[in-house]
Amino acid sequence: MLQFDLLQTDPASHARRGRLTLNHGVVETPIFMPVGTYGTVKGVTPRSLDDMGAQIILGNTFHLWMRPGLDVMQSFGGLHAFENWNQPILTDSGGFQVWSLGAMRKISEEGVRFSSPVNGDKLFMSPEVSIQIQTTLNSDIAMQLDECTPYLSVEPRTKGQITTEREARSSMEMSLRWAKRSQAEFARLENPNALFGIVQGGMFEGLRQESLEQLVAMDFPGYAVGGVSVGEPKDEMLRIMAHTPQRLPAHKPRYLMGVGTPEDLVEGVAQGVDMFDCVMPTRNARNGTLFTRFGDLKIRNARHKTDHGPLDASCTCYACAGFSRAYLHHLDRCGEMLSPMLSSIHNLHYYLNLMREVREALEAGRFGAFVAQFKADRGRGV
Ligand SMILES: [Zn+2]
Repeated sequence: MLQFDLLQTDPASHARRGRLTLNHGVVETPIFMPVGTYGTVKGVTPRSLDDMGAQIILGNTFHLWMRPGLDVMQSFGGLHAFENWNQPILTDSGGFQVWSLGAMRKISEEGVRFSSPVNGDKLFMSPEVSIQIQTTLNSDIAMQLDECTPYLSVEPRTKGQITTEREARSSMEMSLRWAKRSQAEFARLENPNALFGIVQGGMFEGLRQESLEQLVAMDFPGYAVGGVSVGEPKDEMLRIMAHTPQRLPAHKPRYLMGVGTPEDLVEGVAQGVDMFDCVMPTRNARNGTLFTRFGDLKIRNARHKTDHGPLDASCTCYACAGFSRAYLHHLDRCGEMLSPMLSSIHNLHYYLNLMREVREALEAGRFGAFVAQFKADRGRGV
């Protein structure tokens, strides 16, 4: 079940305003999706997420498979009831985590054999297994298993060597075969949700084009752009962002995986992306880096020690409504739990609100002016 309504397009860019209807609710796009790796957005309650306007969150197939395991997930009827979040959920395929195990895993056409990082058990991940797990999780959007083509080649293992076109092609072609197998398993299990295909092809536009054409021929209800934000220089990422999203079917949702900074999101929207996810707002919150309308702020900086002002005077989040920079600085210095909690609320609120402002600008036909103001504000400094 997935319906995508394209409500408006910006005549001066590829930006779009859309609406995604899923089994657990409606998602207004463009949207940012907070990441809930282990069935929780770190340090933030579902109620808080709801208050700040989160419409869809991510769950991580690999980690939930390891712990608590599928028997527990099955007994709860899926991830929604288990984590007490009744709005839409997107799950990744688990491929990226398996791939990240490095020497602990072996990739073949059939799938990936690896040792569990939790207890050392010998395990096997294939397109079919990934879809079986995601079906148990009952996520509103499931992802095909793909092989994330790295920016730096691992085969041969010469550190610093950029993946060649030949390596990227062979990886992309396997991902296409895995897309077919994922789709077949999804249909066999009669999964009532939606499955997205993932465009790969490394930093090569020609390969990206082939990948997307073949995926479009398979008629997925939505498409993701994978293999970006994997350690490549920023200009390489921008080159792929300027190539792939706008070439995907206009009447289907487009998801740019794992990107990025506030500037990356706004650029992504301009390039025709509808959906984003990234650990940056929550991870940076835990490191004391806060995003604000007027640039990024490090709460550890001594200049905040006596500052009675809020993090961001224009922000309506719980952390900005009642707490001073001096207090947040103090919490951080003392290593108090409340510090990353409040910082995560603020950063997620910032990302969600940024996307809300983008949607409003698109509706009002002033996206170009919005982007100019956004850049000027962010460059001003806090
Ligand atoms: Zn705030």
